[in-house]
Amino acid sequence: MANVVKARCAGVSRLLSWRCWSRAQYPSTTTFHLDAVSQKNDRPTSGSISRRLKDEADTVIIGGGVVGTGLAYCLAKAGQKDVVLLEKTELTAGSTWHAAGLTTYYNPGINMKKVHWDSLNVFKEVERETGQDVGFHGPGTIRLASTPERVDEFRYQMQRQGWNKAPQWLLTPEEVNQMHPLLNMDKVLMGLHNPGDGHIDPYSLTQAYAIGARMYGADIYQQAGVTGMSMRSDGSWNVDTPHGTIHAQRVVNAAGFWAHEIGRLCGLELPLVTVQHMYVVTGPIPEVQARETELPVIRDLEGAYYARQERDGLIIGPYERAELMKMQNHWVSDGVPPGFGKELFDSDLDRISEYLEAAMEMIPAVRDADITRDVCGPITCTPDHLPLVGPFMAPGLRNYWLAAGV
Ligand SMILES: Cc1cc2nc3c(=O)[nH]c(=O)nc-3n(C[C@H](O)[C@H](O)[C@H](O)COP(=O)(O)OP(=O)(O)OC[C@H]3O[C@@H](n4cnc5c(N)ncnc54)[C@H](O)[C@@H]3O)c2cc1C
Repeated sequence: MANVVKARCAGVSRLLSWRCWSRAQYPSTTTFHLDAVSQKNDRPTSGSISRRLKDEADTVIIGGGVVGTGLAYCLAKAGQKDVVLLEKTELTAGSTWHAAGLTTYYNPGINMKKVHWDSLNVFKEVERETGQDVGFHGPGTIRLASTPERVDEFRYQMQRQGWNKAPQWLLTPEEVNQMHPLLNMDKVLMGLHNPGDGHIDPYSLTQAYAIGARMYGADIYQQAGVTGMSMRSDGSWNVDTPHGTIHAQRVVNAAGFWAHEIGRLCGLELPLVTVQHMYVVTGPIPEVQARETELPVIRDLEGAYYARQERDGLIIGPYERAELMKMQNHWVSDGVPPGFGKELFDSDLDRISEYLEAAMEMIPAVRDADITRDVCGPITCTPDHLPLVGPFMAPGLRNYWLAAGV
């Protein structure tokens, strides 16, 4: 399908209200088991489980996306014995396989700055250790300010820069234009530059983590969906799969947009909701084609989109306002449909037309570009946009960890 970006799309406003969930509570009266039969509908791509499941594990990680495999790698490398990762179908078969792969050192939060710093370093480390290319490109990011308030915000962010191990500095409009000559500079007042930012290939990164995790002794089972969980009186866990039960000292819910229903297996109502998230990929753009070096990633904060180079074109991804977001509320009440795995949603260019128009104004070369691909996939969010990471504290619940909503 080749849609033409320059065709102006009629904006469609969708009045979707952001529903806030209270923080998860435990114990709850709701408990259920995933239907093992429904998991058979999940179209396995690599046949059935290849070897007998272990009976015992120190840590069982549920979910083989970039988060679960990354965690398996880090735990095993840190010396934890008996790390087991259970994946329902195949690695990356949730949000990971279609992500745009942007990585950044930037974050307004002091603690998150550290997480970003460590993450980018782990990408390089796992590639070096395993020999698996993770597809990292590091052209840097320029955040654009086109209002005085945004300029103030950038200056404020620079005052917090002492907490950041990665470099970051302000750019004049001239410097911005020098680094990204395709920009229309009419409204640009300042840039905030993070050298070393860029993008990875999320599929390859996940495979690298998996190779590294196995190298350090972790076991990864694919086609091994978790169907039930129960906590024993000593705080350890029985984790059920169609291939048997594993007894684990602790469990980590890293099931992406299924994390909510994995939570429900033991009565947790996690504050997670899935949102449809889109980006478009353009065909070749002569001005991009003519370049010898990769363009920095642009984050236009007033336009609310990012644009990064992809081969000779661009990937443009919007950050939609709450009223335009398309939320999968029924996935919270009814669960993810059993057959949904590596599927995408139907894309809706109308919904993101104002962001594409903003991109066309900022990067005029986009006006004549074709959209050669659009991707609309599920992304999991928390009400405050902070990830649910760490031990889950609730009366009566022990040794239950979360790595979701990231
Ligand atoms: C269009 C789009 C673009 C994006 N772009 C970016 C970007 O540029 N940068 C960025 O950082 N993020 C981006 N994201 C977000 C990113 O994709 C996610 O944050 C990330 O992939 C989440 O990884 P995960 O491992 O938590 O979840 P997932 O990738 O969803 O993995 C969860 C895994 O759990 C497994 N699972 C589910 N149920 C069970 C069960 N019962 N038993 C065992 N396993 C189970 C699933 O099969 C799946 O493999 C984007 C998302 C979308 C939709």
